[in-house]
Amino acid sequence: MTKLRDIMTVHWPHGWVVYERTPINSKGQFKSVVGLVAGLTRPELKIIEVSDVVCRETLYVFLHECGHVNCGHFASDDEESLPLAQHEYEAETYAINAMRAGGLSVPRKTLKGAREYVRKCIEEEPDRIQTKEVLKFAYGSRWRQHC
Ligand SMILES: [Zn+2]
Repeated sequence: MTKLRDIMTVHWPHGWVVYERTPINSKGQFKSVVGLVAGLTRPELKIIEVSDVVCRETLYVFLHECGHVNCGHFASDDEESLPLAQHEYEAETYAINAMRAGGLSVPRKTLKGAREYVRKCIEEEPDRIQTKEVLKFAYGSRWRQHC
């Protein structure tokens, strides 16, 4: 538990407030104004909302949200210009690197979910051109079939 808190402290964005919510299901989701989510960032209020950080999976969600802030996704108008999948890929990569830097492995299930999520984001914006890195993350060795 201390280790989880230590890793949180390293990545907690300066000046942001973090609310940890009680999950209402086994996926660690909580109910917010937008429905059931595992993590949420409200840049206008500088608030991150996540499920209670009690394990590697919930820490990962927290780090994903920190990734959006620390990668500058809310800092400029590039929020509109970049594909959604690019932002989500950057947040997933941030979380993976942060876990490993903190000496924790990323659970296989979490990695699988991250790739599926980026795939879903690519499919939501079929007309956007994706980078090689995003496609490789989402589709692995079959990435060229999705260019
Ligand atoms: Zn995200």
